[in-house]
Amino acid sequence: MHIIDGKKTAAAIRQELKDQVAALTARHGRAPGLAVILVGGDPASQVYVRNKERACEDVGIISKGFRLPEDIPQAQLEDTIMYLNEDPSIDGLLLQLPLPKGLDSQRCLDLISPSKDVDGFHPVNMGRLALGLPCLRSCTPAGIMTLMERHGIDVAGKKAVVIGRSNIVGKPLALMLLQKNATVTVCHSRTRDIAEEVRSADIVLAAVGIPRFVTRDMVKPGAVVIDVGINRTDLGLVGDCDFEGLRDVASAMTPVPGGVGPMTIAQLLVNTLEAYVEHVG
Ligand code: NAD
Repeated sequence: MHIIDGKKTAAAIRQELKDQVAALTARHGRAPGLAVILVGGDPASQVYVRNKERACEDVGIISKGFRLPEDIPQAQLEDTIMYLNEDPSIDGLLLQLPLPKGLDSQRCLDLISPSKDVDGFHPVNMGRLALGLPCLRSCTPAGIMTLMERHGIDVAGKKAVVIGRSNIVGKPLALMLLQKNATVTVCHSRTRDIAEEVRSADIVLAAVGIPRFVTRDMVKPGAVVIDVGINRTDLGLVGDCDFEGLRDVASAMTPVPGGVGPMTIAQLLVNTLEAYVEHVG
């Protein structure tokens, strides 16, 4: 089985970005800027935000963190977003989710300028994705598409089964696969016979959030398995797929950690640079 090493691929992308950012910064007289808003003190979110900020600095993108208190009123959070929408030094604006209870995340996401929406969650960007138009694309699915491309996995004409239909992973991933001419099935919590659906897949993409949900009896020999899951268990981080059980069934598979995760962060940097190029151009 070929292990699809996302860590290595992400590192290569980050190196490429570093060179591009340096050249563009010299040409346009300013570096790309990413604003990251974190509301409250959720420990996992704090780690994610720190990793994103570090990744930015590493490639020469200026990151500006806005740590806001848990009890911030909705209106004040909205004001912060609108202020950053107008700030010409900011190309990307990221609101770390989930927000503390009582805050309306959809309202906030809708307020982010589509041209700065580096998470690709804004209805304009999701709509453009559905229409097959250029847009800022959700980081995890876009990172997965790049990862497959760089590992020689052509999805055209293949049967791809996505497990999960969330707005941040499953749904946009299905649209991106469709755009690349895969035959796409989306499974979810109400799907009747998931095992049967998954067994028909040339490419299985699991974004369920249940440890080792995909087992060897569900996977066709030779299939490619992309494991999006990040589940914290007593045994550490595990994916949505039984990696060990699938070792001699799948032809290629992403590990957890070190698969999709690093690609998500690399894609955030790619998106920020894309937004910057639009802004300076
Ligand atoms: P979510 O909880 O929003 O969505 C899970 C989806 O799985 C839902 O659409 C639901 O219908 C489906 N589902 C739930 N139980 C099911 C079942 N028994 N059978 C079939 N389908 C079922 O989760 P999400 O935000 O899409 O994330 C999914 C996983 O991916 C999580 O483990 C998350 O931590 C991980 N994740 C990883 C990255 C990354 O960078 N690698 C990014 C985002 C999410």
